[in-house]
Amino acid sequence: MSSTNKMKLILDAKSQNEGFARSVVAAFFVQINPTLEQVEDLKTAVSEAVTNCIVHAYEGTQQGTIEISCELSDKAISVEICDFGRGIENVEQAMKPFFTTVATGERSGMGFTVMQAFCDSVVVTSQKGATTVRLVKKVA
Ligand code: ATP
Ligand code: MG
Repeated sequence: MSSTNKMKLILDAKSQNEGFARSVVAAFFVQINPTLEQVEDLKTAVSEAVTNCIVHAYEGTQQGTIEISCELSDKAISVEICDFGRGIENVEQAMKPFFTTVATGERSGMGFTVMQAFCDSVVVTSQKGATTVRLVKKVA
């Protein structure tokens, strides 16, 4: 992707920041004239990724840091959502539909599946202390 514009957002892993993060990324994305549907798709995917940081990486403690790095080209946005939490033991398994490590029934295990449905690519790398979810959404 030819880089034309970059933005980085660093925020606390608090529930009230989820909507904020989603809106900031959307506001950056509109610079390359996406359709309303593309903006809504990206917002949904970013929400899922940020919620995972809050709920899983930092286990709902409302503590920890989330870093969101965005890069725009003429045709696409790349959004990297990073946390420094507990990490994902088996990324391949975690990305399967309906897989969740939350046994209470509160979670449906569909977050990664939703991200994949609404983005052109989703790449996850994780180890203990560092997880990165990279989303790409094209506008063409
Ligand atoms: P839902 O998103 O439907 O509410 P969920 O969060 O459990 O449920 P996914 O978002 O698909 O489902 O995530 C699957 C699993 O991957 C989670 O249950 C969790 O174990 C793990 N996971 C996801 N993101 C992270 C993260 N940032 N840090 C640690 N574990 C994660
Ligand atoms: Mg989730």
